[in-house]
Amino acid sequence: MDRYGQELQRLLEKGDLRTLPDVRHEGKWIVGGGRRMLNLSSNDYLGLAADKELRREFMETLDEEDFLFSSSSSRLLTGNFDICTRLEDKLAGLFRAESALVFSSGYHMNAGILPAISDSHTLILADKLVHASLIDGIRLSPAHAIRYRHQDYGQLESLVDKYRKEYERIVIVTESVFSMDGDVTDLRRLVSIKRLSPQQILLYVDEAHAIGVRGRNGLGIAEEQGCVPEVDFLCGTFGKAMASVGAYVVCRRELRDYLVNKMRTLIFTTALPPVNLAWTCFLLERLPQWKGLRMHLDDMAARLRNCLGGGEGCVSGSHIIPLIEGESGKAVLKAEELRRKGFYVLPVRPPTVPEGTSRLRFSLRADIADEELDALITCLK
Ligand SMILES: *Cc1c(COP(=O)(O)O)cnc(C)c1O
Repeated sequence: MDRYGQELQRLLEKGDLRTLPDVRHEGKWIVGGGRRMLNLSSNDYLGLAADKELRREFMETLDEEDFLFSSSSSRLLTGNFDICTRLEDKLAGLFRAESALVFSSGYHMNAGILPAISDSHTLILADKLVHASLIDGIRLSPAHAIRYRHQDYGQLESLVDKYRKEYERIVIVTESVFSMDGDVTDLRRLVSIKRLSPQQILLYVDEAHAIGVRGRNGLGIAEEQGCVPEVDFLCGTFGKAMASVGAYVVCRRELRDYLVNKMRTLIFTTALPPVNLAWTCFLLERLPQWKGLRMHLDDMAARLRNCLGGGEGCVSGSHIIPLIEGESGKAVLKAEELRRKGFYVLPVRPPTVPEGTSRLRFSLRADIADEELDALITCLK
């Protein structure tokens, strides 16, 4: 009878009950439980969301016609404001690609593209650790799907080889920086696998954690590894380092036209408000010039990775750095200790990560000062 209550009780007893945290933000600080802590758990990797000066500058340059808090319609009806097209042109220009398409969120993007481009003659090969939104996209699609072992390119290659003849097309799905381990995908390796059958294989890469922070102009790992033109669906989100909301895919014109016709999470939802699109545009224009922030973030990440000794299981190659503790209880205690010392770090436990690999997850941000990182490193030693 009281199924929901019983399930909540079970979660509570297991220590797995989730609640919405009661916190307040002061720039890079987070205030909660009577303490003010350095926020090492946010996705504001460049510190742009916390930058008041930037916001002020935006408000001063904002056009009256873009100062709208609703688009009041789907983009296919009356919601396709000029600012959205300008944003897409800007994206296509930055990536030197044929076209780009903007979505309401990364979740909409990943839950929508895969079902739109697949049929029963499609095989999806996805990295075992891809984001929940991609898993949902796979579930909604009529394709057959296989998840290969995390970053196991050898297994991926043999799967491609094995199934090439059975399917019309194969979509390889991965992230470029993975959110739990902070490890970086070898996109060039994926490109070489695509070359086994370039007409048949499509590459789908989600750069949610890399856009803004990697690559010469901040365009992500595909830019860094020089393979932007080879990725068929080069995706990213604006809610993390880009300090905004929404998501994008950079792709060929024909693929964009196809998505506009077939993608349900684009067609059947209200477009983003013009004011949010204008803010994203404003930030995107400045993205190449934030090289200094990216370098500082890189330097700090290298120092923290070093301090953690590249310990067992530490495969991070980015600003997201896990500290594997093993048992959940241990990770929870360590996180509490760090919060007492003024560092807001959260434990990550199963089922988010495999059993026995509970961890603390540090997510660095470019507005951290060297002294603040020194203090954290001292605490961890
Ligand atoms: C955060 C994230 C998303 C979801 O993006 P939203 O804009 O927050 O919906 C999608 N993919 C990955 C890899 C992410 O980390």
